[in-house]
Amino acid sequence: MNPANLEFSRPEQTKYTFDVVIAGGGFAGIYAAKALAAKLGSSACTRVAIVAEQNFMLFQPMLAEVAGSSLSPTHVVNPIRALCKNVTVIRGSIASVDLDARRLEVKTGDFSGSVAVNFEHLSLAIGGVVDLSRVPGMAEHAFLLKNVGDALRLRMAIIDRFEEAAVTPDPAERRRLLTYVVVGGGYSGVEVAGQIIDVCREIVRYYPSVPTDSFRVVLAHSGKQLLPEISGSLGRYCEENLRSRGVEIMLGVRASAMTSGKIFFGDHIVLAHTVVTTVGNAPNPVLLKLIKDYSLPSEKGRVLTDSTFRVEGRDRLWAAGDCAAVPMPKTKPLSPTAQRQFCPPTAQFAMRQGKLMGENIAAALENRGRGRPFKFSGLGELAAIGHRAAVAEIMGLKFSGFIAWIMWRTIYLSKLPGLERKIRVMIEWTLDLFFPRDISLLESRPTQVIKESFCTAGDMLCHAGEPAFFFYIVKSGRIELFNADNTPSRSVLPGDHFGERALLNDQIWHVTAIAAEDSTVVAIGASAFESVLGADASIREFLLKTASNAAMDPEKTAQELAIR
Ligand SMILES: Cc1cc2nc3c(=O)[nH]c(=O)nc-3n(C[C@H](O)[C@H](O)[C@H](O)COP(=O)(O)OP(=O)(O)OC[C@H]3O[C@@H](n4cnc5c(N)ncnc54)[C@H](O)[C@@H]3O)c2cc1C
Repeated sequence: MNPANLEFSRPEQTKYTFDVVIAGGGFAGIYAAKALAAKLGSSACTRVAIVAEQNFMLFQPMLAEVAGSSLSPTHVVNPIRALCKNVTVIRGSIASVDLDARRLEVKTGDFSGSVAVNFEHLSLAIGGVVDLSRVPGMAEHAFLLKNVGDALRLRMAIIDRFEEAAVTPDPAERRRLLTYVVVGGGYSGVEVAGQIIDVCREIVRYYPSVPTDSFRVVLAHSGKQLLPEISGSLGRYCEENLRSRGVEIMLGVRASAMTSGKIFFGDHIVLAHTVVTTVGNAPNPVLLKLIKDYSLPSEKGRVLTDSTFRVEGRDRLWAAGDCAAVPMPKTKPLSPTAQRQFCPPTAQFAMRQGKLMGENIAAALENRGRGRPFKFSGLGELAAIGHRAAVAEIMGLKFSGFIAWIMWRTIYLSKLPGLERKIRVMIEWTLDLFFPRDISLLESRPTQVIKESFCTAGDMLCHAGEPAFFFYIVKSGRIELFNADNTPSRSVLPGDHFGERALLNDQIWHVTAIAAEDSTVVAIGASAFESVLGADASIREFLLKTASNAAMDPEKTAQELAIR
């Protein structure tokens, strides 16, 4: 067969051209698109495009409630096409930005490949990302709270641990299963810790074999006070409230490493399988590359703008929201944030910046001058801490407890885009007052065919006699293998592997594997391992050989392979 005869060429890349392209469909992007649509009228449809990785806008402030089974995930998202009816929507991931050619390359999917989007004005609203690389093991083992998938995964994990604890007779292992650690004592951290303790207290009654005092929620924060963004008295209220409900609070500590069963805070170790991290906010890599390639002015990874959202020194380049360092207006301080040099990365700023940026771009398109400067300096801060309690500092006034919780719900409900979503959330919140939380594990665990795992000295990867599900490749460190009678078998060093003998033969471990030092291993699931063997004869031969070297009958292995 001649490959040249095959029909394999992709169609030529589709090209689009717009006056304004908004990169990002979060708070800043959506409000900018809406403002442009309002100013430009029906012509916005062909003149303005919004490019976003997801086809929905996510309302992050309610994510903790999704994780705590108080809200359905579909209620905290809104389709961009429904929110911005009068602009063109391109769902895709921005792969590159060429400011000189005034063009974006957008990856739109497996079948459509990528499209080129030309622009006259580019407005950056791509938010930030999470980077956990500074804490070894955290990226592999921690739960995040950044998107709906994260919240759903966390919700499942909270309930799943109770299911496992219900059949775990060993009190120490049950305690580890039911220990939930939240890293970060800012808004998201206290909100999620409050939700988790509420879930635990509420659902423990469904598990008669689980003693009511066997769960533990730990909130670890590097600062001396929770919620550093608001006043000391409200931070203390939050701390007292959470402690009174059973949350253990560790202040002045930093996570230094984690494995699948422990988290280290320097010398202090907490045994837990479930760690949620709300720290590690980092600049979007697309933005970092842009800043580097074009020497754009920046402040801690955010692109620097003037008060009208123009990026200094760049014609027709705009930015707003979490990815932009917008100077904080020098107005009378009404909230703690007003004393900052740059606007904080919060939704209340992003949506207002987006709206004004849209209006200013419309003014530029119509040659109506530079537009208006950003004057908003914040109304205040709000954080729900679970159990119908919240803390709030609004226009200099402090509120806490139930009244603050009512304020939190009213204000966030009013900010949730779309009447339909508002009504759905209101109904769900009302039902929540009368009915218990749902503990159904809706999604089965996705089959993780390949995963990277960090382990510290002494961690056991597998035990002789147990069923084998993975083939391991050691990436760093050293793993020691022991025979079933605990006599040393061999050391596995970086680049070396083990597990083929078990997977090729009876799928039972014949060795016990223990990390001799801090190590990273790549685990390949049994089905993926079989696919690799089926796809490449030389790899199969090689692994058969290494398996037979590991003291087994090669003929028997070959026979079994042929049967499968
Ligand atoms: C759990 C949590 C709780 C929060 N609670 C609050 C709160 O109570 N109050 C508050 O004010 N703020 C809160 N925030 C912060 C708030 O959500 C952010 O400040 C806000 O979302 C910033 O808006 P943005 O538009 O700048 O970015 P985002 O909302 O993050 O939107 C970024 C957009 O860019 C898109 N994007 C990114 N990269 C690409 C790419 N390469 N190609 C295409 N599109 C891309 C994304 O898909 C997304 O549409 C919370 C945040 C979190 C994570």
